[in-house]
Amino acid sequence: MPKPLSILYVSSEVVPFAKTGGLADVSGALPQVIREMGHDIRIIMPKYATVSDRKFKIHDIKRLTDMPIEIGDKTYLSSVKSSFLTNIRTKVQVYFVSNDDLYCRSDLYIDPKTKEGWPDNDDRFIFFCKSVIETMLLLGWKPDIIHLNDWQSAILAPMIKTMYAKEPLFKNTKIVFTIHNAAYQGIFPADTFEKTDLPQKVMTPDGMEYHGNVNFMKAGLQYADYITTVSKTYSKEIQESNDFGFGLEGIFKKKSRKLTGILNGMDTDVWNPEDDEHIPAHYSKKDFSGKVENKKALLERFKLPYDEKVPVIGIVTRLVDQKGLDLIEKRLDNMLKLKCQIVVLGSGQKEYEKMLQAAAKKNKKQVGVEIGFDEALAHLIEAGSDMFLMPSKYEPCGLNQMYSLRYGTLPIVRATGGLADTVIDLNENPKKGNGFVFDEYKAPKLLDAVKRAVKAYGDRENWEAAMKRAMSADFSWNRSADKYVELYRKLLKKK
Ligand code: ADP
Repeated sequence: MPKPLSILYVSSEVVPFAKTGGLADVSGALPQVIREMGHDIRIIMPKYATVSDRKFKIHDIKRLTDMPIEIGDKTYLSSVKSSFLTNIRTKVQVYFVSNDDLYCRSDLYIDPKTKEGWPDNDDRFIFFCKSVIETMLLLGWKPDIIHLNDWQSAILAPMIKTMYAKEPLFKNTKIVFTIHNAAYQGIFPADTFEKTDLPQKVMTPDGMEYHGNVNFMKAGLQYADYITTVSKTYSKEIQESNDFGFGLEGIFKKKSRKLTGILNGMDTDVWNPEDDEHIPAHYSKKDFSGKVENKKALLERFKLPYDEKVPVIGIVTRLVDQKGLDLIEKRLDNMLKLKCQIVVLGSGQKEYEKMLQAAAKKNKKQVGVEIGFDEALAHLIEAGSDMFLMPSKYEPCGLNQMYSLRYGTLPIVRATGGLADTVIDLNENPKKGNGFVFDEYKAPKLLDAVKRAVKAYGDRENWEAAMKRAMSADFSWNRSADKYVELYRKLLKKK
């Protein structure tokens, strides 16, 4: 038996403690599966306002209380607390870096008033990274692997490889850096660099300097031992053009030999139509008669009439450009001329919120819209819809299409990133198809895919066969967790 590994999993959001998107789902699920495989994996994240001591049974760690952390000419106090991420099979230790002034705010990254990042996001995440290092040093815990995620933890890579290059604790530690979305890079003015305490050589074009600014994600890419992204297709797309690499495509290309895509899994305990606590009727691929009850409940929730012959198209998303909202806006009226109903849950850019609310007001029998974030409703939409629309401009992995497949709700997607890797077009491949796929990011192509889906819905027998195929696909974490552990071991063999 190979020796179990020690892994520190560093993430800025983790379900159930704090979530803005897919990163939180991944961080809440992958470590648990790796723990079940016998490894000592621990998570560290900031303690935001949503992380309630009482609810999550969080306790202080005496020797990690009030650690002074210097950021420029300011000194902040960092206290690290502890709790566990638990499921029925296992327990993962979670450390929370706490400083109320920095983290206890109404949103994780964005100031709701300005809709821009908090002006001190650089301080907040430099503080986080420095606290992570202090924590390990004080605990004397030696990780074989430090697994970083996105820009918020990226500068830990140069910190460990330069400032702590001689620290015995990290002597054999390898760093894996996972990109969940290359669009969010953590770019700050050049004077942020001083606050990191990194040596000057890191502030060069071969380091984290980026058009005169500092770029945290770039720092992670330059100094990590290995880079992963969350699907095979996305790992190629980010090397290809600015549309996906957002200015870092050159570096992704340069690092291509140290870069791979590992498809995210989904949490099959939380997203399971057979015992989902958020839906009124349970169902399975053997018997999906319960699905119609969920459809009725969903339509009732949105005060829309039920008609067996009319398919419901669900959307659950951040309402941002990335998710293809402009395509939907351009063809919504045409879609509504088809025999279908549309339900949307999301929040984000004001113009899209308004556009959808106006459509719901105008089409009272056909469109339901809820602006906000609602976990329970997201489950009901997955269970109660017949189709799920995700016309993303780019999609590193995407989780909602996997949830949809598992709930027998056929996805309509654009062929990008993880959507291309998980959805097979039913018209092109009637024997294997599990959804509807269009290639070019153009409104007529979206409309064509929706038309094909609505038409296919009329053919009950083939539709149900496709539902069954969709529900049979295995998107559990086990497969991907194996790949991560394989990667960790491969890196540790290298000197
Ligand atoms: P991204 O990470 O880009 O937002 P993903 O599809 O990878 O996209 O993950 C989105 C996750 O967030 C899913 O679990 C989805 O159900 C959830 N989600 C997004 N918007 C909402 C919302 N308004 N209410 C509830 N859940 C949401």
